Amino acid sequence: MIIKFTNYSDGIHEFELVKKAKDLHLEEPFINDVHINCKMDKSHSQLVLSCDLSVDVKLTCDRCADDFESKFENHFDNIYLFGREEEPLEDIDVYQLAPEADKIDLSEDVKEYANLALPMKILCSEDCLGLCPKCGKNLNEQTCGCSKDNVSNVWEPLQKLKDKLNK
Ligand SMILES: [Zn+2]
Ligand SMILES: [Zn+2]
Repeated sequence: MIIKFTNYSDGIHEFELVKKAKDLHLEEPFINDVHINCKMDKSHSQLVLSCDLSVDVKLTCDRCADDFESKFENHFDNIYLFGREEEPLEDIDVYQLAPEADKIDLSEDVKEYANLALPMKILCSEDCLGLCPKCGKNLNEQTCGCSKDNVSNVWEPLQKLKDKLNK
């Protein structure tokens, strides 16, 4: 994912770059293509890049163990300076460009932000019902007799107490 910035005039440019996850050495769970939509603001002293990244992934749900495909997004901002040192800004990566440089390779940023886009907890959906702890059935697909028992087990002591107090 290379931008040959010498091809661009000063000003704002928008473009999309697409590359196969495989070609970026993004292994599982990444599949298909990685897209980045970038806005580049070029001036005589710097390049400001603001990119939206989107990746397709194939994951296994932590709760029901089903495989599913999903899309995740992330965003990154980079600043490239033409031959002058500056204090790095928070949350923005600032790079110094060599005087002879004519392009930027975003591959490493894309890999880093693709990995950061993955959630800690992987769920096929927010309200995934998971597997029955007793019989192992996927409760998204079917209900089973045992789920009710679990619920009443939890409430049984309270119910007994309530019965006692009501006597
Ligand atoms: Zn699930
Ligand atoms: Zn069950």
